[in-house]
Amino acid sequence: MSRKNRIRLFAYTPLETGGIYEATEAQTHYLSNVMRLGLDDEVFLFDGVHGEFLATVAQKTKKNLILKVNKKIFDFEKAPDVWLLFAVLKKDNTDIVVQKAVELGARKIIPVRSEYTTASNIKPERLKAQIIEAAEQSRRQDLPELGDFLPLEKLLKTWPQNRKLVYLDETGQGRSFSACAKQMKEPVAFLVGPEGGFSSKELELLKSLSYTSAVSLGHRILRAETASLAALSCWQAFCGDWK
Ligand code: SAH
Repeated sequence: MSRKNRIRLFAYTPLETGGIYEATEAQTHYLSNVMRLGLDDEVFLFDGVHGEFLATVAQKTKKNLILKVNKKIFDFEKAPDVWLLFAVLKKDNTDIVVQKAVELGARKIIPVRSEYTTASNIKPERLKAQIIEAAEQSRRQDLPELGDFLPLEKLLKTWPQNRKLVYLDETGQGRSFSACAKQMKEPVAFLVGPEGGFSSKELELLKSLSYTSAVSLGHRILRAETASLAALSCWQAFCGDWK
């Protein structure tokens, strides 16, 4: 199997060269029954802390698969310090935002409840599983953190003020991305509204805070999920690791 196609899995316990990793039940099923790996077959493992390692299948039973961790191939690297806060959407669109935010290198993802948010809950365990899958697939070393689902006002009350909060303003009040890229240095966070947009009360509140600024993504109104992905992409291109 070429390096490009080699299986890459998240390890739930810390990895070190010379150590072993016991695959979880789901991983054992995937490696044995889906991918049909045999003894000595190679897998990439990363644990979100120590980097990435080349491992080989050392023991295999029906229920259990043990990998030997042979050598480190990449040092640990964190994604840039950009967070995405988004008003939760219908289930599938929330899934898309979370998966793509992982690929686009957000370090923390925070689901938010705003005035016009229609979805009333999220399933953190399900979203965490999606984060792991997207990190495996995108060859990311670190796992982004999933923040608690909080009402916008509460989140703003406890905001770490050294982190600029850039809200995506569809009303045309914001500056263009290129004009304010210089003021969006790390640490930074983007906030995207729900399908119904922000209420005028929320926009007033956001405008009044010292650590916020408004940005526009042009005169076309984007779907909320598109706006999240566009904001992260623009930021990576202007300020992040696509520069
Ligand atoms: N219902 C609103 C649109 C909401 S779009 C209306 O019809 O006016 C959902 C969210 O995506 C917005 O709250 C905003 O955060 C973001 N967004 C969409 N288009 C945008 C744009 N052109 N510029 C900045 N943000 C945008």
